[in-house]
Amino acid sequence: MVKQISKKLGDKLRVQVVSKYLAFAQEGLVPEINCPLDQGLLMCNVDNEDKIYLYCLSCEYKNFIGIDFYKKIKQNLEGIKNGK
Ligand SMILES: [Zn+2]
Repeated sequence: MVKQISKKLGDKLRVQVVSKYLAFAQEGLVPEINCPLDQGLLMCNVDNEDKIYLYCLSCEYKNFIGIDFYKKIKQNLEGIKNGK
């Protein structure tokens, strides 16, 4: 039962994970994600439907995060925890 619940949580995209990644990227701990248009600094936010998106501070760029992208950044964060 507990296992089922934690799996469900794990599959949900969480903005905390994304913002943590962006903070770590600024410290150089994980690869940086920059705006593809002007290499500006990206921030994350959620819309009314709880969808996470990245947006650029210096231009109009905005991109919703998909599960593949999310998994990738989560893997990078777990790599730090494991001391890789
Ligand atoms: Zn930009």
